[in-house]
Amino acid sequence: MSNNTKILFFTPHPDDLEMGMPFTYLEAIRLGNEVVEVLMTNGEYGTTNKEFKGKRLSKIRMKEINDANAVFERGTNNKVRLVKMNYIDGFLPLNNEAIQRVTKLLQKEKPDIVFTCDPWFAQDYHEDHLNTGRLVYFSLKRLQKSQLPKRVYYYLSNKTRFYIKCRWKDFKIVEEALLQHRTQVSPMFVKMMLVFYNKLSIFRHLLKTRSSSECFREQEFKDGVPISPPRFEEMPFRTRWIYYLFSTVTLWGNKKLIDLSPEKLNLKSEYDLSDILKVKDPRYKILGTS
Ligand SMILES: [Zn+2]
Repeated sequence: MSNNTKILFFTPHPDDLEMGMPFTYLEAIRLGNEVVEVLMTNGEYGTTNKEFKGKRLSKIRMKEINDANAVFERGTNNKVRLVKMNYIDGFLPLNNEAIQRVTKLLQKEKPDIVFTCDPWFAQDYHEDHLNTGRLVYFSLKRLQKSQLPKRVYYYLSNKTRFYIKCRWKDFKIVEEALLQHRTQVSPMFVKMMLVFYNKLSIFRHLLKTRSSSECFREQEFKDGVPISPPRFEEMPFRTRWIYYLFSTVTLWGNKKLIDLSPEKLNLKSEYDLSDILKVKDPRYKILGTS
C-alpha cells in the first residue's frame, strides 16, 4: 500500500523515535506514507562503558537503528528510508551552518508533514533534543511559504494538544523495535517502560480522548511564518511554572555520559560544532566538557 504523503521524522539519537513516539511512527509506515527518518547524531556517547564510547558504539548503534526499522518494516510490509546528518552525540550544534543543512534537506525532501522534538516546551532538556527541534524551527523560518510542510508536530513535549491513538495490538511490534536498541535497553526496562508509558498515556489522556494516545504540540504559522514561542514573562503562571520545572530539572542527565572530549575519542567532526545559544546559557558553562 502506498500514498503520496511524505513524512520526515527527526530524531536526535538512534533510539528516540522508539522511546518517544513509536506508535505514531509505526502507523505512519503502515499507512503507506513515504517515511524518512532523519538521524541527527550517531549516538557515540550512549554508554557508561568507556571502552565502547566513540566509533565502536556508533557502529553498533547504526545496526540497532536499522534493526529497529526492520521490525517496523516487517510489521507493516512497507519501507523506511534513513538519512544521517552525522553530528557527534552530545554536540549537536545550533548555528548557521547546521540550520542551513536542515533547510536544504527540507527543500530537497519537500515533506508534507514533519515530526521533531519540542524545541521550547520540552519534556527533557537534553541539548541534542532541544537543538533537533530548534534546527527545524529556524529552518522553517528560512523556507518560502510554498516550501513549508503542511504540518509540523513536536514530540517529547510538555504542552500538547494533538493526540494520535495507540493501537493495543501494536505493543508487540513496538516492544520488539525498542528491544533492538540493545546497548540502551534491557528487556526488563522495555517491559517497565511500556507498562509505564501505557498507564501514563491512559491517565493523562483518557478523559480527553477516551483512549491511550501519543501526544504532540503543533507548530502554528501566520502568513507562512512559524509563530515564535512566548517569552517567559508573557507565559501564564501555570505554563511558566511547568516550563521552569522541566527546563531546570531535566537538563542534566546526559552530561554524565559525556566525560571525554570528542578529540580523546578520536572523533573528528566534519561540521562546525559551535552553538550560538549554549554560550549564552550559564547552565552549559558549568558543565563544560574537557
Ligand atoms: Zn535522545
